[in-house]
Amino acid sequence: VPDLFYKVDIVVIGAGQAGLSAAYHLKRQGIEPGKGFVVLDDEFSAGGAWQHRWDSLTLSTVNGINDLPGLAFADVVNTSDHELQANTAIPQYYEAYEKEFELPVIRPIRVHEVTERNGRFIIRTNGVQFNARGIINATGTWKTPNCPRYPGWEKFQGRQLHTGEYKNAQEFIGKHVIIVGGGISAVQLLGEVSAVTQTTWVARRPPDFRPYKFTPELGRDAVALVEERVREGLPVTSVVSVTGLPITPAIQEMLDTGTLDWNPMFDEITETGVRWADGRTLDADVIFWNTGFRHSLDHLAALHLQNDQGGIEMSGTLATQVVKDPRIHLTGYGPSASTIGANRAGRAAAKELIAYLQL
Ligand code: FAD
Repeated sequence: VPDLFYKVDIVVIGAGQAGLSAAYHLKRQGIEPGKGFVVLDDEFSAGGAWQHRWDSLTLSTVNGINDLPGLAFADVVNTSDHELQANTAIPQYYEAYEKEFELPVIRPIRVHEVTERNGRFIIRTNGVQFNARGIINATGTWKTPNCPRYPGWEKFQGRQLHTGEYKNAQEFIGKHVIIVGGGISAVQLLGEVSAVTQTTWVARRPPDFRPYKFTPELGRDAVALVEERVREGLPVTSVVSVTGLPITPAIQEMLDTGTLDWNPMFDEITETGVRWADGRTLDADVIFWNTGFRHSLDHLAALHLQNDQGGIEMSGTLATQVVKDPRIHLTGYGPSASTIGANRAGRAAAKELIAYLQL
């Protein structure tokens, strides 16, 4: 019987910042690309989630992109051009990065399910099946929008979309748009859409604006809190839920002009708009859900990594190692869900997994 699996020691799932960093460090530590490890990614081209970000997210409006190890962003892209779109500049960088280090990225290939058999992992995809001793999961969040289904969801005659589908505000001109959500994306996109058309902003809680600037120290403290949670096996919270929304000049302007006019969450969706419990209704053409993302981990469900609290207990130097099965690392997860976190997590995961598997 022929061996139907492509056998390697380690499969990295996802080729965003986290997967590329892990791949770089695996190679650097002597694991042979292609034979010792592969990177599986379901996109047609390099760029991870960045290739799907909306057009107005430019190098001047992103929070900051950290260089992947070994090749500077500025060596590939003209970073002094602040108006460059992130959805082209970062994919260009990742593509150059994959080439420069000859990383064994296979795409497009989607991992549907990971199971265990005879002490090894079976990685079932829409193409070749893989068989590995260890997994570095780096699948990000973009493919798993969090979209609460409010009563009446299916009745609405207008358009509903999630952050992940947004391209630019022009498509909403002349329409009344209800913007849902209280995080950074909701606020940024409210600013953008309200500049061209009529908007109403709703969120479950009043926005948690904080009168300070976002500093590296604040970021570090927030990451430490998220790390503490995953080490205790609690469900992941976003860094913003810890830091609140520091008031940037753009947010200050929106506060001054009254654009940030918060309304509580509606209770029901109707054919033509939304209704609150007190009977108040509002007609709209578009409901735009900026309600965040969840970590894309459905393909790992059969491994039962989650505990009763809905979290995954993590350990290791940067909390990337799954306690229940130390042959699995989650990178870009919880405390490492940023470009700098993903860089560090990739390094820690590669190092610890090589040691654990005694490669
Ligand atoms: P991704 O870039 O999402 O890469 C995951 C890859 O895995 C993707 O290619 C995906 O298609 C693939 N994949 C997923 N599931 C599967 C599967 N089952 N099989 C095969 N492949 C799969 N961070 C910053 O540091 N600075 C910023 O300015 C910043 N801005 C952000 C703006 C927005 C709107 C959002 C949503 C996030 C932002 N972040 C920012 C966080 C950012 O997402 C991370 O920093 C980082 O880029 C994520 O990298 P990643 O490798 O974990 O995930």
